[in-house]
Amino acid sequence: MKMLIEIMPERAGHLELTNLPACERQTLPGVISQRACLLYGARWMLAAIRDVVHLIHGPVGCAYYSETVRKKNYRVFSTALGEKEIIFGAGQKLEDAIREAISLRPRPSAVLVYTTCAVGLIGEDVEAICKRVSASLGLPVVPVNCPGFGGVSQGNGHDVAAAALLEHFIGRGPAGPPLENRVNILGEFDVQGDLKEIEQLLQRLGLNIICAVSGRATVENMARAHRAGLNIVHCGRTGRRLAQKMEERFGIPWRKVSFFGLAETVAALQAVAAFFNRPGEAAWVEKEAEAARQRALPYLRRLAGRRVALFFGASRMGGAGLQHRVPVLQPGVRLP
Ligand code: SF4
Repeated sequence: MKMLIEIMPERAGHLELTNLPACERQTLPGVISQRACLLYGARWMLAAIRDVVHLIHGPVGCAYYSETVRKKNYRVFSTALGEKEIIFGAGQKLEDAIREAISLRPRPSAVLVYTTCAVGLIGEDVEAICKRVSASLGLPVVPVNCPGFGGVSQGNGHDVAAAALLEHFIGRGPAGPPLENRVNILGEFDVQGDLKEIEQLLQRLGLNIICAVSGRATVENMARAHRAGLNIVHCGRTGRRLAQKMEERFGIPWRKVSFFGLAETVAALQAVAAFFNRPGEAAWVEKEAEAARQRALPYLRRLAGRRVALFFGASRMGGAGLQHRVPVLQPGVRLP
Protein backbone atom coordinates (compact mmCIF):
# COMPACT_ATOMS: atom_id res chain seq x y z
CA MET A 1 0.00 0.00 0.00
CA LYS A 2 2.78 2.36 0.95
CA MET A 3 4.35 1.99 -2.47
CA LEU A 4 1.14 3.10 -4.18
CA ILE A 5 1.17 6.52 -2.52
CA GLU A 6 3.32 9.06 -4.24
CA ILE A 7 4.31 12.09 -2.18
CA MET A 8 4.60 15.40 -3.98
CA PRO A 9 8.22 16.60 -3.63
CA GLU A 10 7.18 19.92 -2.08
CA ARG A 11 5.16 18.06 0.59
CA ALA A 12 7.73 15.39 1.37
CA GLY A 13 9.08 17.08 4.48
CA HIS A 14 5.65 17.65 5.93
CA LEU A 15 4.26 14.17 6.24
CA GLU A 16 5.37 10.69 7.12
CA LEU A 17 3.67 7.55 5.92
CA THR A 18 4.06 4.73 8.39
CA ASN A 19 1.92 1.98 9.86
CA LEU A 20 -0.88 2.00 7.34
CA PRO A 21 -3.60 -0.37 8.53
CA ALA A 22 -3.48 -3.93 7.27
CA CYS A 23 -6.41 -4.89 5.07
CA GLU A 24 -8.58 -8.00 5.33
CA ARG A 25 -7.30 -8.99 8.78
CA GLN A 26 -9.23 -9.32 11.99
CA THR A 27 -9.13 -6.19 14.13
CA LEU A 28 -7.75 -6.82 17.61
CA PRO A 29 -10.34 -6.22 20.35
CA GLY A 30 -9.47 -3.02 22.18
CA VAL A 31 -7.40 -1.60 19.34
CA ILE A 32 -8.90 1.44 17.65
CA SER A 33 -9.19 0.78 13.94
CA GLN A 34 -9.94 3.01 10.98
CA ARG A 35 -12.17 0.36 9.48
CA ALA A 36 -15.94 0.32 9.75
CA CYS A 37 -17.67 -2.69 11.27
CA LEU A 38 -19.99 -5.30 9.80
CA LEU A 39 -23.05 -3.37 10.97
CA TYR A 40 -21.87 -0.28 9.14
CA GLY A 41 -21.27 -2.32 5.98
CA ALA A 42 -24.85 -3.58 6.11
CA ARG A 43 -26.11 -0.04 6.68
CA TRP A 44 -24.02 1.17 3.72
CA MET A 45 -25.98 -1.20 1.54
CA LEU A 46 -29.47 -0.89 3.06
CA ALA A 47 -29.80 2.59 4.59
CA ALA A 48 -31.38 4.15 1.50
CA ILE A 49 -34.32 1.71 1.34
CA ARG A 50 -37.13 4.11 1.99
CA ASP A 51 -40.28 2.22 2.87
CA VAL A 52 -38.95 0.05 5.70
CA VAL A 53 -38.32 0.55 9.41
CA HIS A 54 -34.60 0.32 10.18
CA LEU A 55 -34.19 -0.96 13.74
CA ILE A 56 -30.70 -1.28 15.22
CA HIS A 57 -30.86 -3.99 17.87
CA GLY A 58 -28.11 -3.07 20.30
CA PRO A 59 -26.75 -0.30 22.51
CA VAL A 60 -27.76 3.17 21.44
CA GLY A 61 -24.18 4.00 20.36
CA CYS A 62 -24.45 1.49 17.48
CA ALA A 63 -27.56 3.32 16.22
CA TYR A 64 -25.86 6.68 16.53
CA TYR A 65 -22.84 5.35 14.63
CA SER A 66 -24.90 3.87 11.80
CA GLU A 67 -27.51 6.55 11.24
CA THR A 68 -25.22 8.62 9.01
CA VAL A 69 -24.30 6.90 5.80
CA ARG A 70 -22.48 8.59 2.90
CA LYS A 71 -22.82 11.89 4.81
CA LYS A 72 -26.62 11.57 4.87
CA ASN A 73 -28.69 11.13 8.01
CA TYR A 74 -31.30 8.40 7.92
CA ARG A 75 -34.00 7.73 10.48
CA VAL A 76 -33.15 4.67 12.54
CA PHE A 77 -34.71 3.17 15.64
CA SER A 78 -32.81 1.48 18.43
CA THR A 79 -33.61 -1.08 21.10
CA ALA A 80 -31.11 0.88 23.27
CA LEU A 81 -29.89 -2.19 25.13
CA GLY A 82 -28.35 -1.70 28.54
CA GLU A 83 -26.81 -3.92 31.20
CA LYS A 84 -30.15 -5.38 32.25
CA GLU A 85 -30.94 -6.77 28.79
CA ILE A 86 -27.39 -8.01 28.26
CA ILE A 87 -27.70 -10.07 31.46
CA PHE A 88 -31.38 -11.12 31.41
CA GLY A 89 -32.05 -11.19 27.68
CA ALA A 90 -33.29 -8.67 25.13
CA GLY A 91 -35.98 -10.63 23.28
CA GLN A 92 -38.96 -8.90 24.85
CA LYS A 93 -37.37 -5.50 24.35
CA LEU A 94 -36.86 -6.30 20.68
CA GLU A 95 -40.51 -7.28 20.23
CA ASP A 96 -41.68 -4.13 22.01
CA ALA A 97 -39.31 -1.96 19.98
CA ILE A 98 -40.56 -3.38 16.65
CA ARG A 99 -44.16 -2.59 17.60
CA GLU A 100 -43.27 0.87 18.88
CA ALA A 101 -41.23 1.70 15.77
CA ILE A 102 -44.14 0.68 13.53
CA SER A 103 -46.48 2.91 15.51
CA LEU A 104 -44.09 5.83 14.99
CA ARG A 105 -43.54 5.16 11.29
CA PRO A 106 -46.98 4.21 9.96
CA ARG A 107 -47.50 1.76 7.11
CA PRO A 108 -43.99 0.48 6.53
CA SER A 109 -43.59 -2.32 3.99
CA ALA A 110 -41.15 -4.25 6.20
CA VAL A 111 -38.88 -4.03 9.23
CA LEU A 112 -35.13 -4.61 9.05
CA VAL A 113 -33.59 -5.68 12.36
CA TYR A 114 -29.82 -5.18 12.38
CA THR A 115 -27.93 -7.15 15.01
CA THR A 116 -24.86 -5.70 16.74
CA CYS A 117 -21.89 -6.95 18.77
CA ALA A 118 -23.79 -7.05 22.07
CA VAL A 119 -26.59 -9.14 20.55
CA GLY A 120 -24.06 -11.46 18.92
CA LEU A 121 -22.32 -11.94 22.26
CA ILE A 122 -25.44 -12.81 24.26
CA GLY A 123 -26.39 -15.26 21.51
CA GLU A 124 -30.04 -14.34 21.20
CA ASP A 125 -32.19 -16.11 18.59
CA VAL A 126 -33.13 -12.94 16.71
CA GLU A 127 -34.33 -14.91 13.69
CA ALA A 128 -36.97 -16.78 15.73
CA ILE A 129 -38.16 -13.54 17.34
CA CYS A 130 -38.43 -11.82 13.94
CA LYS A 131 -40.42 -14.76 12.53
CA ARG A 132 -42.82 -14.69 15.46
CA VAL A 133 -43.41 -10.93 15.30
CA SER A 134 -43.69 -11.08 11.51
CA ALA A 135 -46.48 -13.67 11.74
CA SER A 136 -48.35 -11.63 14.32
CA LEU A 137 -48.00 -8.33 12.43
CA GLY A 138 -48.49 -9.75 8.92
CA LEU A 139 -45.41 -7.84 7.78
CA PRO A 140 -41.91 -9.02 6.80
CA VAL A 141 -39.60 -8.59 9.80
CA VAL A 142 -36.16 -9.43 8.46
CA PRO A 143 -33.06 -10.04 10.56
CA VAL A 144 -29.80 -8.67 9.17
CA ASN A 145 -27.16 -10.65 11.00
CA CYS A 146 -24.33 -8.13 11.17
CA PRO A 147 -22.68 -8.00 14.62
CA GLY A 148 -19.73 -5.63 14.23
CA PHE A 149 -17.09 -8.22 15.09
CA GLY A 150 -18.43 -10.69 12.49
CA GLY A 151 -16.05 -9.81 9.67
CA VAL A 152 -12.72 -8.25 8.92
CA SER A 153 -14.13 -5.25 7.16
CA GLN A 154 -17.19 -3.28 6.21
CA GLY A 155 -17.25 -5.26 2.95
CA ASN A 156 -18.49 -8.39 4.72
CA GLY A 157 -21.48 -6.35 5.87
CA HIS A 158 -22.33 -5.62 2.22
CA ASP A 159 -22.46 -9.37 1.61
CA VAL A 160 -24.71 -9.98 4.63
CA ALA A 161 -27.05 -7.22 3.43
CA ALA A 162 -27.09 -8.56 -0.15
CA ALA A 163 -27.98 -12.03 1.17
CA ALA A 164 -30.88 -10.56 3.17
CA LEU A 165 -32.19 -8.71 0.10
CA LEU A 166 -31.99 -11.84 -2.02
CA GLU A 167 -33.65 -14.04 0.54
CA HIS A 168 -36.50 -11.74 1.53
CA PHE A 169 -37.14 -9.09 -1.12
CA ILE A 170 -35.66 -9.45 -4.61
CA GLY A 171 -37.87 -11.30 -7.07
CA ARG A 172 -40.69 -11.98 -4.58
CA GLY A 173 -43.30 -10.72 -7.05
CA PRO A 174 -45.14 -12.86 -9.61
CA ALA A 175 -42.95 -14.70 -12.13
CA GLY A 176 -43.03 -13.65 -15.78
CA PRO A 177 -40.90 -12.96 -18.83
CA PRO A 178 -38.43 -10.04 -18.83
CA LEU A 179 -40.17 -6.69 -19.14
CA GLU A 180 -39.25 -4.83 -22.30
CA ASN A 181 -36.50 -2.19 -22.00
CA ARG A 182 -36.22 -2.52 -18.23
CA VAL A 183 -32.98 -2.63 -16.25
CA ASN A 184 -31.85 -2.65 -12.63
CA ILE A 185 -28.79 -0.83 -11.35
CA LEU A 186 -26.97 -2.69 -8.62
CA GLY A 187 -24.49 -0.96 -6.34
CA GLU A 188 -25.84 2.51 -7.09
CA PHE A 189 -26.59 4.63 -4.01
CA ASP A 190 -27.68 7.93 -5.54
CA VAL A 191 -24.91 9.89 -3.88
CA GLN A 192 -25.79 13.54 -4.31
CA GLY A 193 -28.25 12.96 -7.13
CA ASP A 194 -26.10 10.94 -9.53
CA LEU A 195 -28.87 8.38 -10.10
CA LYS A 196 -31.08 10.98 -11.78
CA GLU A 197 -28.28 11.80 -14.24
CA ILE A 198 -27.74 8.10 -15.01
CA GLU A 199 -31.47 7.57 -15.40
CA GLN A 200 -31.73 10.39 -17.93
CA LEU A 201 -28.94 8.87 -20.02
CA LEU A 202 -30.56 5.44 -19.93
CA GLN A 203 -33.93 6.93 -20.84
CA ARG A 204 -32.28 8.48 -23.89
CA LEU A 205 -31.45 4.89 -24.89
CA GLY A 206 -35.11 3.99 -24.36
CA LEU A 207 -34.50 2.15 -21.08
CA ASN A 208 -36.26 2.47 -17.73
CA ILE A 209 -35.01 1.47 -14.30
CA ILE A 210 -37.08 -0.99 -12.28
CA CYS A 211 -34.93 -0.82 -9.18
CA ALA A 212 -31.65 0.76 -8.13
CA VAL A 213 -30.13 -1.14 -5.22
CA SER A 214 -30.29 0.63 -2.98
CA GLY A 215 -30.40 4.28 -4.06
CA ARG A 216 -33.98 3.86 -5.18
CA ALA A 217 -35.04 0.52 -3.74
CA THR A 218 -38.42 -0.18 -2.20
CA VAL A 219 -39.98 -3.45 -1.15
CA GLU A 220 -42.32 -3.17 -4.13
CA ASN A 221 -39.73 -2.48 -6.83
CA MET A 222 -37.29 -5.08 -5.46
CA ALA A 223 -40.10 -7.65 -5.77
CA ARG A 224 -40.26 -6.83 -9.52
CA ALA A 225 -36.49 -6.70 -10.03
CA HIS A 226 -36.39 -10.27 -11.43
CA ARG A 227 -38.25 -9.04 -14.55
CA ALA A 228 -35.37 -6.83 -15.76
CA GLY A 229 -33.64 -7.63 -19.04
CA LEU A 230 -30.23 -6.52 -17.75
CA ASN A 231 -28.55 -5.80 -14.43
CA ILE A 232 -26.17 -2.87 -14.68
CA VAL A 233 -23.51 -3.17 -11.96
CA HIS A 234 -22.14 0.19 -10.85
CA CYS A 235 -20.15 -0.35 -7.62
CA GLY A 236 -18.55 -3.74 -8.18
CA ARG A 237 -17.96 -4.48 -4.49
CA THR A 238 -21.61 -4.08 -3.55
CA GLY A 239 -23.29 -5.02 -6.84
CA ARG A 240 -21.31 -7.81 -8.47
CA ARG A 241 -22.24 -10.60 -6.08
CA LEU A 242 -25.89 -9.59 -6.20
CA ALA A 243 -25.74 -9.65 -10.01
CA GLN A 244 -24.15 -13.10 -10.03
CA LYS A 245 -26.82 -14.48 -7.72
CA MET A 246 -29.61 -12.88 -9.78
CA GLU A 247 -28.12 -14.39 -12.91
CA GLU A 248 -28.09 -17.83 -11.28
CA ARG A 249 -31.58 -17.50 -9.89
CA PHE A 250 -33.47 -15.53 -12.54
CA GLY A 251 -31.20 -15.77 -15.59
CA ILE A 252 -30.63 -11.99 -15.77
CA PRO A 253 -27.39 -11.10 -17.58
CA TRP A 254 -25.26 -8.29 -16.16
CA ARG A 255 -22.62 -5.80 -17.22
CA LYS A 256 -20.14 -4.01 -14.96
CA VAL A 257 -19.85 -0.40 -16.03
CA SER A 258 -18.99 2.98 -14.53
CA PHE A 259 -20.79 6.28 -15.00
CA PHE A 260 -18.03 8.33 -13.41
CA GLY A 261 -15.81 10.08 -15.92
CA LEU A 262 -16.54 10.90 -19.52
CA ALA A 263 -14.69 7.99 -21.10
CA GLU A 264 -16.29 5.56 -18.61
CA THR A 265 -19.78 6.94 -19.23
CA VAL A 266 -19.33 6.67 -23.00
CA ALA A 267 -18.13 3.07 -22.64
CA ALA A 268 -21.03 2.28 -20.27
CA LEU A 269 -23.69 3.65 -22.62
CA GLN A 270 -22.14 1.89 -25.59
CA ALA A 271 -22.00 -1.42 -23.70
CA VAL A 272 -25.65 -1.10 -22.66
CA ALA A 273 -26.73 -0.02 -26.17
CA ALA A 274 -24.84 -3.00 -27.64
CA PHE A 275 -26.56 -5.35 -25.20
CA PHE A 276 -29.99 -4.11 -26.28
CA ASN A 277 -28.86 -4.19 -29.89
CA ARG A 278 -29.17 -0.47 -30.53
CA PRO A 279 -26.22 0.25 -32.83
CA GLY A 280 -27.88 3.51 -33.93
CA GLU A 281 -27.33 5.00 -30.45
CA ALA A 282 -23.54 4.96 -30.77
CA ALA A 283 -23.60 8.15 -32.87
CA TRP A 284 -25.70 9.98 -30.25
CA VAL A 285 -23.35 8.88 -27.45
CA GLU A 286 -20.32 10.10 -29.39
CA LYS A 287 -22.00 13.43 -30.21
CA GLU A 288 -22.87 14.06 -26.55
CA ALA A 289 -19.36 13.07 -25.48
CA GLU A 290 -17.82 15.54 -27.90
CA ALA A 291 -20.10 18.31 -26.59
CA ALA A 292 -19.03 17.47 -23.02
CA ARG A 293 -15.35 17.56 -24.04
CA GLN A 294 -15.87 21.01 -25.47
CA ARG A 295 -17.54 22.18 -22.25
CA ALA A 296 -14.61 20.81 -20.23
CA LEU A 297 -11.96 22.50 -22.39
CA PRO A 298 -11.78 25.84 -20.51
CA TYR A 299 -11.24 24.03 -17.20
CA LEU A 300 -8.67 21.64 -18.64
CA ARG A 301 -6.78 24.58 -20.12
CA ARG A 302 -6.58 26.26 -16.71
CA LEU A 303 -5.59 23.03 -14.98
CA ALA A 304 -3.16 21.80 -17.63
CA GLY A 305 0.03 20.43 -16.15
CA ARG A 306 -1.18 20.68 -12.56
CA ARG A 307 -1.52 17.77 -10.20
CA VAL A 308 -4.97 17.18 -8.72
CA ALA A 309 -6.04 14.90 -5.89
CA LEU A 310 -9.34 13.12 -6.18
CA PHE A 311 -11.21 12.10 -3.03
CA PHE A 312 -14.19 9.87 -3.62
CA GLY A 313 -15.53 6.38 -3.07
CA ALA A 314 -14.24 3.17 -4.54
CA SER A 315 -16.94 2.99 -7.20
CA ARG A 316 -15.58 6.14 -8.76
CA MET A 317 -11.89 5.46 -8.47
CA GLY A 318 -11.63 3.23 -11.52
CA GLY A 319 -7.98 3.08 -12.44
CA ALA A 320 -7.39 6.75 -11.67
CA GLY A 321 -5.43 6.20 -8.48
CA LEU A 322 -4.96 8.83 -5.81
CA GLN A 323 -3.45 11.52 -7.94
CA HIS A 324 -3.74 12.50 -11.53
CA ARG A 325 -1.79 14.98 -13.56
CA VAL A 326 -3.97 16.94 -15.96
CA PRO A 327 -2.44 16.55 -19.42
CA VAL A 328 -0.82 19.55 -21.03
CA LEU A 329 -3.06 20.25 -23.98
CA GLN A 330 -1.51 19.94 -27.41
CA PRO A 331 -3.20 21.39 -30.46
CA GLY A 332 -5.36 18.77 -32.13
CA VAL A 333 -4.99 16.27 -29.28
CA ARG A 334 -8.23 14.51 -28.45
CA LEU A 335 -9.19 14.68 -24.78
CA PRO A 336 -9.97 11.46 -22.94
S1 SF4 B 1 -21.89 -3.31 16.01
FE1 SF4 B 1 -20.10 -3.57 17.38
S2 SF4 B 1 -18.36 -2.64 16.26
FE2 SF4 B 1 -20.28 -1.92 15.27
S3 SF4 B 1 -20.78 0.03 16.28
FE3 SF4 B 1 -21.86 -1.55 17.44
S4 SF4 B 1 -20.44 -2.18 19.10
FE4 SF4 B 1 -19.24 -1.02 17.58
